[in-house]
Amino acid sequence: QIGALPMAAAPGVGQPNVVLFLRDLTEARRLETMRVDFVANASHELRTPLASLSGFIETLQGPARDDERAREQFLGIMRTQAQRMTRLIDDLLSLSRIELREHVPPTQLVDLRRIARQLVDEKAPLAAERGIALTIQAPEGPFPVLGDRDELLRVVENLVENALKYGGGGGLVEVSLEREEGSDSRPPHLVLAVRDQGPGIAPEHIPRLTERFYRVDTASSRQQGGTGLGLAIVKHTLNRHRGRLAVESELGRGTIMRVVLPEHRPGDRADSRSLNPS
Ligand code: ADP
Repeated sequence: QIGALPMAAAPGVGQPNVVLFLRDLTEARRLETMRVDFVANASHELRTPLASLSGFIETLQGPARDDERAREQFLGIMRTQAQRMTRLIDDLLSLSRIELREHVPPTQLVDLRRIARQLVDEKAPLAAERGIALTIQAPEGPFPVLGDRDELLRVVENLVENALKYGGGGGLVEVSLEREEGSDSRPPHLVLAVRDQGPGIAPEHIPRLTERFYRVDTASSRQQGGTGLGLAIVKHTLNRHRGRLAVESELGRGTIMRVVLPEHRPGDRADSRSLNPS
């Protein structure tokens, strides 16, 4: 929107000065559209399992009332649908909590190596179930960042779970850590990478992966119990940590998701803390 406000003529200038107020409403409109889309998507995602639940309840009260086998089968499906709704609500709440504190820098001194190790240990049974070797590679020494331990655990959990879910079964999922040297203008960074040997992601999808509810393959995401919010949560958490997510993928070869975070160095804020489990 462009507004024009005539000003008193400046001395010595024949024409009145005009101060133009340029107000760009495009950004505000974009945000509003995103908000409306988000509410519509979230409602749709909740309505689908709810409609299924209502359908099964009606069938159980009517035609399947006395069918013992059908009852068992339907109750199983209803349980899955209820779990799906719970996961979705949990993810929606996580996302809104993270967005609320996105501008508050985290202050715990966290060792990324411990985070990676904990996640690999926790996900080992799931990996084994899927015939995937889940490994960790890291040079000696701590990988210190200023962060929120629970939020960073959640980030790595999302990436490892995605690698196990979409990694195509079998093969290898590797979590690795490395340090990127800094330069005069850029401090050193730590990189936690999760690499899989799955089908990969086509280049046109990559820029959109962190959008809420964006899925490359909706059916496969739903079947795997995905909410479509995992990478959006990752993105907002990393914003809060002054970090970023970098995605590299090749169709037929696999995907590497890299979490890049500024390294915490002695002399930085919070350096008096020790790298205890925080
Ligand atoms: P979801 O809950 O569906 O897993 P995410 O936000 O975590 O949602 O991921 C978004 C989409 O990105 C997924 O639905 C999937 O299609 C794709 N994706 C994520 N990680 C991988 C991966 N390692 N390999 C292939 N596709 C992936």
